[in-house]
Amino acid sequence: MEVIELLNVTFGDIKRSDLTKSIAMVVISPFEIHGEFLPLGQDVLWARVQQELLTELLLPVGYKIYKYPEIVLGTNVLHGNYGFEIGVLSLRKILINTIKTLHFLGFRKVIICNGQGGPLHSVAIYSAQQYAQKIGVQCFSTLQVSIKRGLQDNWKLKGIDLRQDLHAGLIEVSIALARYPELVNSAYIKYKFSEINPSLLTKILVMLAVPIIQPIFQRLGFGFAKESWIVLLNWYLEGQRPDYIGYPDLADKQTGELLLQNLKSCFQEDIVAKLV
Ligand SMILES: [Zn+2]
Repeated sequence: MEVIELLNVTFGDIKRSDLTKSIAMVVISPFEIHGEFLPLGQDVLWARVQQELLTELLLPVGYKIYKYPEIVLGTNVLHGNYGFEIGVLSLRKILINTIKTLHFLGFRKVIICNGQGGPLHSVAIYSAQQYAQKIGVQCFSTLQVSIKRGLQDNWKLKGIDLRQDLHAGLIEVSIALARYPELVNSAYIKYKFSEINPSLLTKILVMLAVPIIQPIFQRLGFGFAKESWIVLLNWYLEGQRPDYIGYPDLADKQTGELLLQNLKSCFQEDIVAKLV
């Protein structure tokens, strides 16, 4: 069984292949600043790790993996200030066209691997999945699995609330230390997380937004829907302290391995077991 780069095959090869036990994998994540300690490609590298975990699960059960060229783009990239970002509708269109192309080539199973967790980025992926369903393509997204429950069911790790670990924090640094430690510049992980106290007006605005956002999160199947206000507030705070927000100083290799092990078993249940 194999892993094949779609860039290297001809249309004829694909046309004559039986793709019933084949999966196209799409990596979509932005180029973005992650403190001074993680590589700029962190979200892409993290998405590649997800792709590797899935490959480890899919090859032994007889699937062939076709890798679509990586799409290094995203939305909600630190409020557009610390990375290259495109609009949510453009991102959605890129994904829909990608799925359309894969469908034309004969693929009926697609997995979108993503290392960026911004709400609008998620909406673009979700919307593309709805499109895939309409044209008869089974389309999974690692984002939903990982946000929903892959990274801890109880949202607590090392005594901290992971919903406050939004960007380049404990989760991302630990995963990097477990899989590509040579790219982490630990000397710069010197800051401790400090609370940014939101103003009363901010808190009121967040509370007002919750009734609108909560049903959307729920429809997307996100486990944090009930606590949308925490997510919204932290997302807002991310704009105030944009290079990172969370607890990078608590990260270590063992935590990264634990998170990945947990994620892998969620991939097994939520993706591999559901492939038809
Ligand atoms: Zn990231």
